[in-house]
Amino acid sequence: MTDTITSMNDSQHPFDDDKLHEECGVFGIFTHSDAAACVALGLHALQHRGQEAAGIVSFDGQGFHTHRALGLVGDNFNSPDIMNKLKGYAAVGHNRYSTTGDTLLRNVQPLYGDFSFGGLAVSHNGNLTNAMTLRKQLIDIGCLFQSTSDTEVIIHLIALSKQTSVEDRLIDALSRVEGAYSLVVMSNDRLIGVRDPYGVRPLVMGRLGDTYILASETCALDIVGATYVRDIEAGEIVIIEPSGVRSLKPFRKTQKRFCIFEYVYFSRPDSFSEGQNVYETRQRIGAMLSREAPIDADVVVPVPDSGIPGAIGYAKESGIPFELGIIRNHYVGRTFIEPSEHVRHLGVKLKHNGNRAVLEGKRVILVDDSIVRGTTSKKIVTMVREAGALEVHMRIASPPTTHSCFYGVDTPTRDQLLAARYDVAEMARLIGVDSLAFISLDGMYQAVAGIHRNHNAPQFCDACFSGDYPIPLTDADGAANNKQKDLFSEVTEV
Ligand code: SF4
Repeated sequence: MTDTITSMNDSQHPFDDDKLHEECGVFGIFTHSDAAACVALGLHALQHRGQEAAGIVSFDGQGFHTHRALGLVGDNFNSPDIMNKLKGYAAVGHNRYSTTGDTLLRNVQPLYGDFSFGGLAVSHNGNLTNAMTLRKQLIDIGCLFQSTSDTEVIIHLIALSKQTSVEDRLIDALSRVEGAYSLVVMSNDRLIGVRDPYGVRPLVMGRLGDTYILASETCALDIVGATYVRDIEAGEIVIIEPSGVRSLKPFRKTQKRFCIFEYVYFSRPDSFSEGQNVYETRQRIGAMLSREAPIDADVVVPVPDSGIPGAIGYAKESGIPFELGIIRNHYVGRTFIEPSEHVRHLGVKLKHNGNRAVLEGKRVILVDDSIVRGTTSKKIVTMVREAGALEVHMRIASPPTTHSCFYGVDTPTRDQLLAARYDVAEMARLIGVDSLAFISLDGMYQAVAGIHRNHNAPQFCDACFSGDYPIPLTDADGAANNKQKDLFSEVTEV
Protein backbone atom coordinates (compact mmCIF):
# COMPACT_ATOMS: atom_id res chain seq x y z
CA MET A 1 0.00 0.00 0.00
CA THR A 2 1.17 3.56 -0.63
CA ASP A 3 1.03 5.96 2.31
CA THR A 4 1.79 9.67 2.22
CA ILE A 5 1.46 12.19 5.05
CA THR A 6 1.87 15.93 5.50
CA SER A 7 1.89 18.10 8.60
CA MET A 8 0.13 21.30 9.58
CA ASN A 9 2.04 24.26 10.94
CA ASP A 10 1.84 24.19 14.77
CA SER A 11 0.39 27.68 14.84
CA GLN A 12 -2.66 26.73 12.79
CA HIS A 13 -4.77 25.54 15.66
CA PRO A 14 -8.17 27.23 15.79
CA PHE A 15 -9.19 29.84 18.29
CA ASP A 16 -11.19 28.68 21.24
CA ASP A 17 -14.64 29.91 20.23
CA ASP A 18 -16.35 28.50 23.33
CA LYS A 19 -18.50 26.05 21.39
CA LEU A 20 -18.84 22.34 21.75
CA HIS A 21 -16.72 20.98 18.97
CA GLU A 22 -18.12 18.67 16.37
CA GLU A 23 -16.92 15.16 16.35
CA CYS A 24 -15.96 13.76 12.99
CA GLY A 25 -17.25 13.40 9.48
CA VAL A 26 -17.17 10.13 7.54
CA PHE A 27 -17.70 9.41 3.85
CA GLY A 28 -17.40 6.26 1.73
CA ILE A 29 -18.15 5.43 -1.91
CA PHE A 30 -18.48 2.17 -3.89
CA THR A 31 -18.01 2.03 -6.93
CA HIS A 32 -17.03 5.15 -8.90
CA SER A 33 -14.31 5.80 -11.48
CA ASP A 34 -13.10 8.81 -9.50
CA ALA A 35 -13.79 7.57 -5.99
CA ALA A 36 -11.12 9.53 -4.10
CA ALA A 37 -12.11 12.84 -5.71
CA CYS A 38 -15.72 12.23 -4.65
CA VAL A 39 -14.56 11.51 -1.10
CA ALA A 40 -12.50 14.72 -1.04
CA LEU A 41 -15.60 16.67 -2.08
CA GLY A 42 -17.72 14.87 0.52
CA LEU A 43 -15.19 15.61 3.25
CA HIS A 44 -15.12 19.25 2.17
CA ALA A 45 -18.90 19.42 2.67
CA LEU A 46 -18.40 17.84 6.11
CA GLN A 47 -15.55 20.16 7.10
CA HIS A 48 -17.67 21.68 9.91
CA ARG A 49 -17.53 18.29 11.70
CA GLY A 50 -13.76 18.37 12.09
CA GLN A 51 -10.98 20.68 11.01
CA GLU A 52 -7.93 19.14 12.65
CA ALA A 53 -7.10 16.49 10.09
CA ALA A 54 -8.42 14.54 7.14
CA GLY A 55 -7.61 11.29 5.41
CA ILE A 56 -8.65 9.16 2.43
CA VAL A 57 -7.97 5.49 1.71
CA SER A 58 -8.78 4.17 -1.77
CA PHE A 59 -8.78 0.71 -3.34
CA ASP A 60 -8.12 0.01 -7.02
CA GLY A 61 -8.48 -3.77 -7.21
CA GLN A 62 -4.74 -4.26 -6.68
CA GLY A 63 -4.01 -2.46 -3.44
CA PHE A 64 -4.97 0.24 -0.97
CA HIS A 65 -3.66 3.80 -1.18
CA THR A 66 -3.85 6.39 1.55
CA HIS A 67 -3.13 10.02 2.23
CA ARG A 68 -3.64 11.54 5.66
CA ALA A 69 -2.79 15.06 6.76
CA LEU A 70 -3.29 17.57 9.56
CA GLY A 71 -5.38 20.55 8.49
CA LEU A 72 -8.30 21.25 6.19
CA VAL A 73 -9.47 19.07 3.30
CA GLY A 74 -9.07 21.85 0.75
CA ASP A 75 -5.48 22.47 1.81
CA ASN A 76 -4.46 18.83 1.66
CA PHE A 77 -6.36 17.19 -1.17
CA ASN A 78 -5.80 19.84 -3.81
CA SER A 79 -2.76 18.58 -5.68
CA PRO A 80 -2.88 16.29 -8.75
CA ASP A 81 0.10 14.38 -7.30
CA ILE A 82 -1.84 13.41 -4.20
CA MET A 83 -5.13 12.71 -5.96
CA ASN A 84 -3.43 10.64 -8.68
CA LYS A 85 -1.95 8.40 -5.98
CA LEU A 86 -5.41 7.73 -4.58
CA LYS A 87 -6.37 5.44 -7.43
CA GLY A 88 -9.40 3.25 -7.41
CA TYR A 89 -13.11 2.67 -7.64
CA ALA A 90 -13.79 2.59 -3.90
CA ALA A 91 -12.67 4.95 -1.15
CA VAL A 92 -13.38 6.03 2.41
CA GLY A 93 -12.52 9.30 4.12
CA HIS A 94 -12.59 10.97 7.48
CA ASN A 95 -12.52 14.49 8.94
CA ARG A 96 -11.17 14.59 12.44
CA TYR A 97 -11.85 16.66 15.47
CA SER A 98 -10.09 14.65 18.15
CA THR A 99 -12.22 13.52 21.06
CA THR A 100 -9.81 10.83 22.14
CA GLY A 101 -6.12 10.69 21.37
CA ASP A 102 -4.06 13.74 20.60
CA THR A 103 -3.80 15.43 17.25
CA LEU A 104 -1.05 13.26 15.87
CA LEU A 105 -0.75 11.96 12.35
CA ARG A 106 -0.88 8.40 13.56
CA ASN A 107 -4.33 9.13 14.99
CA VAL A 108 -5.64 10.51 11.70
CA GLN A 109 -8.24 8.29 10.10
CA PRO A 110 -9.20 6.23 8.19
CA LEU A 111 -7.21 3.70 10.20
CA TYR A 112 -5.94 0.87 8.03
CA GLY A 113 -4.90 -2.69 8.87
CA ASP A 114 -3.61 -5.69 6.91
CA PHE A 115 -5.53 -8.74 8.14
CA SER A 116 -5.41 -12.43 7.30
CA PHE A 117 -8.37 -11.84 4.94
CA GLY A 118 -6.92 -8.69 3.31
CA GLY A 119 -6.84 -4.95 3.94
CA LEU A 120 -9.46 -2.99 5.86
CA ALA A 121 -9.89 0.77 6.30
CA VAL A 122 -12.09 2.15 9.09
CA SER A 123 -13.57 5.64 9.52
CA HIS A 124 -15.28 6.28 12.84
CA ASN A 125 -17.53 9.09 14.04
CA GLY A 126 -18.26 8.81 17.75
CA ASN A 127 -16.46 7.71 20.86
CA LEU A 128 -16.12 4.33 22.54
CA THR A 129 -16.80 4.56 26.25
CA ASN A 130 -14.95 1.35 27.17
CA ALA A 131 -11.98 1.81 24.80
CA MET A 132 -9.43 2.29 27.58
CA THR A 133 -10.65 -0.83 29.39
CA LEU A 134 -10.47 -2.90 26.19
CA ARG A 135 -7.12 -1.41 25.24
CA LYS A 136 -5.57 -2.56 28.51
CA GLN A 137 -6.98 -6.06 28.00
CA LEU A 138 -5.68 -6.16 24.41
CA ILE A 139 -2.21 -4.96 25.40
CA ASP A 140 -2.13 -7.64 28.12
CA ILE A 141 -2.58 -10.33 25.47
CA GLY A 142 0.12 -8.90 23.25
CA CYS A 143 -1.57 -6.41 20.92
CA LEU A 144 0.67 -3.54 19.82
CA PHE A 145 -1.12 -0.21 19.43
CA GLN A 146 0.10 2.29 16.86
CA SER A 147 -2.16 5.18 17.86
CA THR A 148 -4.00 6.58 20.87
CA SER A 149 -7.29 6.57 18.97
CA ASP A 150 -10.20 4.60 20.45
CA THR A 151 -10.96 3.36 16.92
CA GLU A 152 -7.82 1.20 16.90
CA VAL A 153 -9.47 -1.02 19.52
CA ILE A 154 -11.99 -2.05 16.84
CA ILE A 155 -9.15 -2.90 14.43
CA HIS A 156 -7.54 -5.25 16.99
CA LEU A 157 -10.85 -6.87 17.92
CA ILE A 158 -11.52 -7.58 14.22
CA ALA A 159 -8.04 -9.11 13.87
CA LEU A 160 -8.59 -11.36 16.90
CA SER A 161 -12.06 -12.56 15.86
CA LYS A 162 -12.41 -16.25 15.01
CA GLN A 163 -15.18 -15.51 12.50
CA THR A 164 -14.48 -15.83 8.78
CA SER A 165 -16.39 -13.13 6.87
CA VAL A 166 -15.55 -9.45 7.26
CA GLU A 167 -19.02 -8.59 8.52
CA ASP A 168 -19.06 -11.43 11.05
CA ARG A 169 -15.67 -10.32 12.37
CA LEU A 170 -17.00 -6.77 12.59
CA ILE A 171 -20.13 -7.89 14.46
CA ASP A 172 -17.93 -9.94 16.79
CA ALA A 173 -15.72 -6.90 17.47
CA LEU A 174 -18.61 -4.51 17.98
CA SER A 175 -20.32 -6.88 20.41
CA ARG A 176 -17.48 -6.01 22.82
CA VAL A 177 -17.43 -2.24 22.45
CA GLU A 178 -19.64 0.29 24.18
CA GLY A 179 -20.24 3.85 23.09
CA ALA A 180 -21.30 5.83 20.08
CA TYR A 181 -20.16 4.86 16.62
CA SER A 182 -21.09 5.47 13.04
CA LEU A 183 -18.55 3.54 10.99
CA VAL A 184 -17.70 3.36 7.32
CA VAL A 185 -15.50 0.34 6.63
CA MET A 186 -13.91 -0.62 3.31
CA SER A 187 -12.43 -4.01 2.43
CA ASN A 188 -11.20 -5.18 -0.97
CA ASP A 189 -14.69 -6.17 -2.09
CA ARG A 190 -17.27 -4.20 -0.11
CA LEU A 191 -18.19 -1.03 1.72
CA ILE A 192 -19.87 -1.43 5.11
CA GLY A 193 -21.80 1.14 7.14
CA VAL A 194 -22.65 0.65 10.82
CA ARG A 195 -24.59 2.66 13.39
CA ASP A 196 -24.43 1.76 17.06
CA PRO A 197 -27.56 0.29 18.67
CA TYR A 198 -28.58 3.70 20.06
CA GLY A 199 -27.97 5.49 16.76
CA VAL A 200 -26.26 8.35 18.59
CA ARG A 201 -24.30 9.69 15.63
CA PRO A 202 -25.79 10.16 12.15
CA LEU A 203 -25.09 8.12 9.01
CA VAL A 204 -26.96 8.31 5.71
CA MET A 205 -26.90 6.39 2.45
CA GLY A 206 -27.06 8.03 -0.97
CA ARG A 207 -26.97 6.93 -4.57
CA LEU A 208 -25.42 8.25 -7.75
CA GLY A 209 -26.50 5.95 -10.59
CA ASP A 210 -25.11 2.54 -9.62
CA THR A 211 -22.74 4.09 -7.09
CA TYR A 212 -23.56 3.95 -3.39
CA ILE A 213 -22.38 6.48 -0.84
CA LEU A 214 -22.32 6.50 2.96
CA ALA A 215 -21.89 9.86 4.69
CA SER A 216 -22.38 11.59 8.02
CA GLU A 217 -24.81 14.12 6.56
CA THR A 218 -26.88 14.67 3.45
CA CYS A 219 -24.95 17.87 2.57
CA ALA A 220 -22.10 15.53 1.58
CA LEU A 221 -24.42 13.74 -0.85
CA ASP A 222 -25.50 17.03 -2.39
CA ILE A 223 -21.96 18.10 -3.23
CA VAL A 224 -21.37 15.07 -5.47
CA GLY A 225 -24.87 15.18 -6.99
CA ALA A 226 -26.05 12.03 -5.21
CA THR A 227 -29.61 11.52 -4.06
CA TYR A 228 -30.50 10.66 -0.48
CA VAL A 229 -31.73 7.07 -0.11
CA ARG A 230 -32.24 6.75 3.66
CA ASP A 231 -30.67 7.01 7.09
CA ILE A 232 -28.86 3.90 8.30
CA GLU A 233 -30.98 2.68 11.21
CA ALA A 234 -29.79 2.44 14.79
CA GLY A 235 -28.06 -0.92 15.22
CA GLU A 236 -28.02 -1.59 11.49
CA ILE A 237 -25.14 -2.83 9.36
CA VAL A 238 -25.41 -2.22 5.61
CA ILE A 239 -23.13 -4.09 3.26
CA ILE A 240 -22.62 -2.60 -0.18
CA GLU A 241 -21.07 -5.03 -2.66
CA PRO A 242 -21.11 -5.59 -6.42
CA SER A 243 -24.26 -7.74 -6.14
CA GLY A 244 -26.20 -5.02 -4.28
CA VAL A 245 -26.98 -3.85 -0.75
CA ARG A 246 -27.68 -6.11 2.24
CA SER A 247 -28.86 -5.08 5.68
CA LEU A 248 -28.17 -6.85 8.99
CA LYS A 249 -29.52 -6.07 12.45
CA PRO A 250 -27.37 -8.21 14.71
CA PHE A 251 -27.54 -6.15 17.90
CA ARG A 252 -30.06 -6.33 20.72
CA LYS A 253 -32.82 -3.82 19.96
CA THR A 254 -32.97 -0.85 22.28
CA GLN A 255 -34.53 2.61 22.48
CA LYS A 256 -32.90 4.79 19.84
CA ARG A 257 -31.10 7.83 21.31
CA PHE A 258 -30.01 10.07 18.44
CA CYS A 259 -27.94 13.06 19.59
CA ILE A 260 -30.36 15.99 19.90
CA PHE A 261 -27.43 18.41 19.76
CA GLU A 262 -27.02 17.52 16.07
CA TYR A 263 -30.14 19.63 15.51
CA VAL A 264 -28.98 22.41 17.83
CA TYR A 265 -25.49 22.97 16.47
CA PHE A 266 -23.44 20.16 14.92
CA SER A 267 -25.16 19.36 11.64
CA ARG A 268 -25.06 21.75 8.72
CA PRO A 269 -28.34 23.67 8.34
CA ASP A 270 -28.91 22.38 4.80
CA SER A 271 -28.65 18.73 5.90
CA PHE A 272 -31.62 16.50 6.57
CA SER A 273 -31.13 14.54 9.75
CA GLU A 274 -33.44 11.61 10.46
CA GLY A 275 -35.70 13.03 7.74
CA GLN A 276 -35.85 16.56 9.17
CA ASN A 277 -34.25 19.62 7.65
CA VAL A 278 -31.83 21.03 10.23
CA TYR A 279 -32.44 24.69 9.29
CA GLU A 280 -36.21 24.37 9.68
CA THR A 281 -35.77 22.45 12.93
CA ARG A 282 -33.60 25.25 14.35
CA GLN A 283 -36.26 27.78 13.37
CA ARG A 284 -38.88 25.74 15.23
CA ILE A 285 -36.60 25.68 18.29
CA GLY A 286 -36.35 29.50 18.05
CA ALA A 287 -40.12 29.81 17.76
CA MET A 288 -40.64 27.58 20.80
CA LEU A 289 -38.07 29.63 22.70
CA SER A 290 -40.06 32.76 21.88
CA ARG A 291 -43.24 31.17 23.26
CA GLU A 292 -41.50 29.95 26.39
CA ALA A 293 -39.42 33.08 27.06
CA PRO A 294 -41.04 36.19 25.53
CA ILE A 295 -39.71 39.67 26.22
CA ASP A 296 -40.63 43.13 24.96
CA ALA A 297 -37.80 44.41 22.74
CA ASP A 298 -36.98 46.25 19.50
CA VAL A 299 -34.82 43.78 17.57
CA VAL A 300 -33.90 40.08 17.50
CA VAL A 301 -30.18 39.67 16.81
CA PRO A 302 -28.44 36.33 16.23
CA VAL A 303 -24.95 35.47 17.39
CA PRO A 304 -23.65 34.43 13.97
CA ASP A 305 -23.55 31.98 12.41
CA SER A 306 -24.99 29.28 14.61
CA GLY A 307 -27.63 31.50 16.25
CA ILE A 308 -29.15 32.67 12.95
CA PRO A 309 -31.87 30.04 12.28
CA GLY A 310 -33.04 30.13 15.92
CA ALA A 311 -33.18 33.94 15.83
CA ILE A 312 -35.23 33.85 12.62
CA GLY A 313 -37.68 31.48 14.34
CA TYR A 314 -37.81 33.68 17.44
CA ALA A 315 -38.40 36.82 15.35
CA LYS A 316 -41.14 35.25 13.21
CA GLU A 317 -42.96 33.92 16.26
CA SER A 318 -42.66 37.12 18.31
CA GLY A 319 -43.22 39.60 15.49
CA ILE A 320 -40.09 41.51 16.57
CA PRO A 321 -37.84 42.43 13.61
CA PHE A 322 -34.82 40.23 12.85
CA GLU A 323 -31.64 42.23 12.27
CA LEU A 324 -27.98 41.38 11.73
CA GLY A 325 -26.67 43.33 14.70
CA ILE A 326 -23.42 41.38 14.84
CA ILE A 327 -21.25 40.89 11.78
CA ARG A 328 -18.95 37.90 11.62
CA ASN A 329 -15.63 37.96 9.81
CA HIS A 330 -15.50 34.59 8.06
CA TYR A 331 -11.81 34.86 7.31
CA VAL A 332 -10.75 34.60 10.95
CA GLY A 333 -11.05 31.73 13.33
CA ARG A 334 -10.38 28.33 11.90
CA THR A 335 -6.82 28.81 10.74
CA PHE A 336 -5.81 32.23 12.05
CA ILE A 337 -2.18 32.28 13.09
CA GLU A 338 -2.02 33.36 16.72
CA PRO A 339 1.01 35.56 17.21
CA SER A 340 0.65 35.85 20.97
CA GLU A 341 -1.46 35.02 24.01
CA HIS A 342 -2.58 38.66 24.04
CA VAL A 343 -4.12 38.35 20.57
CA ARG A 344 -5.82 35.10 21.55
CA HIS A 345 -7.88 37.09 24.03
CA LEU A 346 -8.89 39.45 21.23
CA GLY A 347 -10.29 36.49 19.32
CA VAL A 348 -13.94 37.34 19.70
CA LYS A 349 -13.38 40.90 18.45
CA LEU A 350 -11.48 39.59 15.47
CA LYS A 351 -14.35 37.29 14.66
CA HIS A 352 -17.39 39.46 15.50
CA ASN A 353 -18.22 43.15 15.47
CA GLY A 354 -21.30 45.00 16.70
CA ASN A 355 -23.35 46.72 13.98
CA ARG A 356 -24.00 50.13 15.56
CA ALA A 357 -26.64 51.07 12.95
CA VAL A 358 -28.80 48.21 14.21
CA LEU A 359 -27.97 48.23 17.92
CA GLU A 360 -27.77 51.86 19.02
CA GLY A 361 -30.62 52.88 21.30
CA LYS A 362 -32.33 49.48 20.96
CA ARG A 363 -33.60 46.85 23.35
CA VAL A 364 -31.93 43.76 21.93
CA ILE A 365 -32.86 40.08 22.11
CA LEU A 366 -29.63 38.19 21.48
CA VAL A 367 -30.16 34.59 20.32
CA ASP A 368 -27.42 31.95 20.48
CA ASP A 369 -27.54 28.17 20.14
CA SER A 370 -25.85 27.33 23.46
CA ILE A 371 -23.68 28.55 26.31
CA VAL A 372 -20.67 26.41 27.15
CA ARG A 373 -18.13 28.22 29.35
CA GLY A 374 -19.79 31.59 28.87
CA THR A 375 -16.55 33.34 27.96
CA THR A 376 -17.62 34.25 24.43
CA SER A 377 -21.15 35.18 25.53
CA LYS A 378 -19.77 37.72 27.99
CA LYS A 379 -17.57 39.34 25.32
CA ILE A 380 -20.42 39.43 22.80
CA VAL A 381 -22.76 41.09 25.30
CA THR A 382 -20.10 43.70 26.13
CA MET A 383 -19.65 44.34 22.41
CA VAL A 384 -23.40 44.77 21.87
CA ARG A 385 -23.61 47.25 24.75
CA GLU A 386 -20.57 49.16 23.46
CA ALA A 387 -22.39 49.46 20.12
CA GLY A 388 -25.16 51.35 21.92
CA ALA A 389 -27.76 48.75 22.94
CA LEU A 390 -30.02 49.99 25.77
CA GLU A 391 -30.93 46.51 27.02
CA VAL A 392 -29.58 43.04 26.19
CA HIS A 393 -31.82 40.01 26.73
CA MET A 394 -30.17 36.70 25.90
CA ARG A 395 -32.21 33.73 24.68
CA ILE A 396 -30.56 30.34 24.21
CA ALA A 397 -31.91 27.77 21.73
CA SER A 398 -30.96 24.79 23.91
CA PRO A 399 -31.31 23.97 27.61
CA PRO A 400 -28.40 24.75 29.97
CA THR A 401 -25.39 22.55 29.11
CA THR A 402 -24.70 21.01 32.50
CA HIS A 403 -22.83 17.80 31.62
CA SER A 404 -19.94 16.70 29.43
CA CYS A 405 -20.43 14.54 26.36
CA PHE A 406 -18.68 11.16 26.20
CA TYR A 407 -20.14 10.14 22.85
CA GLY A 408 -17.83 11.84 20.40
CA VAL A 409 -18.17 15.56 21.07
CA ASP A 410 -15.37 17.56 22.61
CA THR A 411 -16.83 19.27 25.67
CA PRO A 412 -15.02 20.92 28.56
CA THR A 413 -14.98 19.15 31.91
CA ARG A 414 -18.08 19.72 34.01
CA ASP A 415 -16.36 22.18 36.28
CA GLN A 416 -15.79 24.42 33.24
CA LEU A 417 -19.42 24.40 32.10
CA LEU A 418 -21.08 27.61 33.27
CA ALA A 419 -24.48 25.97 33.72
CA ALA A 420 -23.01 23.22 35.89
CA ARG A 421 -21.81 25.79 38.40
CA TYR A 422 -24.45 28.53 38.44
CA ASP A 423 -28.20 28.94 38.23
CA VAL A 424 -29.73 31.01 35.41
CA ALA A 425 -29.94 34.24 37.45
CA GLU A 426 -26.28 33.99 38.41
CA MET A 427 -25.30 33.15 34.82
CA ALA A 428 -27.17 36.27 33.64
CA ARG A 429 -25.23 38.38 36.13
CA LEU A 430 -21.90 36.88 35.08
CA ILE A 431 -22.56 37.30 31.35
CA GLY A 432 -23.84 40.81 31.94
CA VAL A 433 -27.33 40.60 30.41
CA ASP A 434 -30.57 42.17 31.59
CA SER A 435 -32.29 38.78 31.32
CA LEU A 436 -31.35 35.26 30.30
CA ALA A 437 -33.57 32.31 29.37
CA PHE A 438 -33.07 28.87 27.84
CA ILE A 439 -35.54 26.67 25.98
CA SER A 440 -36.79 23.87 28.24
CA LEU A 441 -35.77 20.28 27.53
CA ASP A 442 -39.37 19.30 26.83
CA GLY A 443 -39.81 22.40 24.65
CA MET A 444 -36.82 21.31 22.60
CA TYR A 445 -38.29 17.81 22.11
CA GLN A 446 -41.56 19.37 20.97
CA ALA A 447 -39.78 21.73 18.58
CA VAL A 448 -37.50 19.03 17.16
CA ALA A 449 -39.86 16.08 16.89
CA GLY A 450 -43.32 17.19 18.02
CA ILE A 451 -43.17 14.86 21.05
CA HIS A 452 -42.95 15.20 24.81
CA ARG A 453 -39.81 13.85 26.44
CA ASN A 454 -40.43 10.45 27.99
CA HIS A 455 -38.61 10.80 31.30
CA ASN A 456 -38.42 7.04 31.78
CA ALA A 457 -37.09 6.37 28.28
CA PRO A 458 -35.99 9.59 26.53
CA GLN A 459 -36.29 9.39 22.76
CA PHE A 460 -33.02 11.26 22.12
CA CYS A 461 -29.63 11.45 23.77
CA ASP A 462 -29.83 14.68 25.76
CA ALA A 463 -27.21 13.79 28.38
CA CYS A 464 -25.34 17.09 28.17
CA PHE A 465 -28.58 18.80 29.29
CA SER A 466 -29.97 16.13 31.62
CA GLY A 467 -27.06 13.98 32.82
CA ASP A 468 -29.07 10.96 31.63
CA TYR A 469 -26.35 8.99 29.82
CA PRO A 470 -27.90 6.19 27.72
CA ILE A 471 -24.67 4.19 27.25
CA PRO A 472 -22.46 3.15 30.20
CA LEU A 473 -19.42 5.32 30.82
CA THR A 474 -17.22 2.37 31.66
CA ASP A 475 -13.87 4.14 31.32
CA ALA A 476 -15.12 7.21 33.15
CA ASP A 477 -16.62 5.26 36.02
CA GLY A 478 -16.18 7.30 39.17
CA ALA A 479 -14.67 10.14 37.20
CA ALA A 480 -17.69 11.77 35.60
CA ASN A 481 -15.90 15.08 35.63
CA ASN A 482 -13.38 13.80 33.11
CA LYS A 483 -13.61 14.76 29.49
CA GLN A 484 -13.13 11.87 27.12
CA LYS A 485 -9.68 13.01 25.94
CA ASP A 486 -8.42 12.87 29.53
CA LEU A 487 -9.36 9.23 29.73
CA PHE A 488 -6.43 8.52 27.46
CA SER A 489 -4.01 10.72 29.38
CA GLU A 490 -2.12 7.75 30.76
CA VAL A 491 -1.25 6.70 27.22
CA THR A 492 2.20 8.15 26.75
CA GLU A 493 2.72 10.11 23.54
CA VAL A 494 6.09 10.10 21.83
FE1 SF4 B 1 -25.22 14.77 21.83
FE2 SF4 B 1 -25.11 15.86 24.26
FE3 SF4 B 1 -25.68 13.24 23.95
FE4 SF4 B 1 -23.22 14.17 23.46
S1 SF4 B 1 -24.26 14.11 25.46
S2 SF4 B 1 -24.39 12.71 22.18
S3 SF4 B 1 -23.66 16.20 22.57
S4 SF4 B 1 -26.91 15.02 23.27
